[in-house]
Amino acid sequence: MQQLAVFGGTFDPIHWGHLLVAETALHQVSLEKVIWVPTLNPPHKEAALFEHRLQMLQLAIKDNPAFTVSLVETNRSGTSYAINTLIDLSACYPNTHWYWIVGLDTFQTLPGWYRGHELAQMCDWLIAPRQLGGETITQSKLICKQVEQQLKEQSAIVHWQLLNIPLVGVSSSLIRKFCREGKSIRYLVPEAVRSYITNNNLYSYKSE
Ligand code: ATP
Repeated sequence: MQQLAVFGGTFDPIHWGHLLVAETALHQVSLEKVIWVPTLNPPHKEAALFEHRLQMLQLAIKDNPAFTVSLVETNRSGTSYAINTLIDLSACYPNTHWYWIVGLDTFQTLPGWYRGHELAQMCDWLIAPRQLGGETITQSKLICKQVEQQLKEQSAIVHWQLLNIPLVGVSSSLIRKFCREGKSIRYLVPEAVRSYITNNNLYSYKSE
């Protein structure tokens, strides 16, 4: 049985934090592939055009043969829900043990996702520690255990592990902010992504 991971996100834009998380996951649990799934229509966010986000994602991952992009979410209309993504991917990749890669901030919200308690059990969770309020790894584990407990109360058993990764303080919102303020984003995103942002004049005038 092959081992694959889904890495869903808005990727508005993709940055080095995302890439480091995916690469760590690949080796920590011996995945065959990481399938990047850009969210078409994020439920709680306004995002740059899907086409732009997709182009940047493709530019950023093109040198890694174990990274691939899936457009499953483009086949659905309306709001994108993670459980539908996994159901669709399972049809494309049968006989697979699935993992889902998330940052700690995202994992915390899992109990409230649409059919979150079902999705929680359909895959194993690889969690990237993320600076939410100065957490240490021990605190990150505690937060994950709280999520586990919440899901247990919804009768769902969730399997998770923390990714062995240093905390990376980069976020897409920080990059958008730097662009708006005319600050350099070199070394926060791959060079090809930086050029794409400049050439397409992304984020400069966007308000949040
Ligand atoms: P924004 O700042 O706009 O909220 P983001 O940087 O969190 O964006 P997303 O595309 O929303 O980027 O994130 C996709 C996934 O990657 C989420 O699960 C998020 O928690 C995780 N992630 C993003 N950046 C990091 C990081 N620096 N460290 C760990 N996880 C991260």
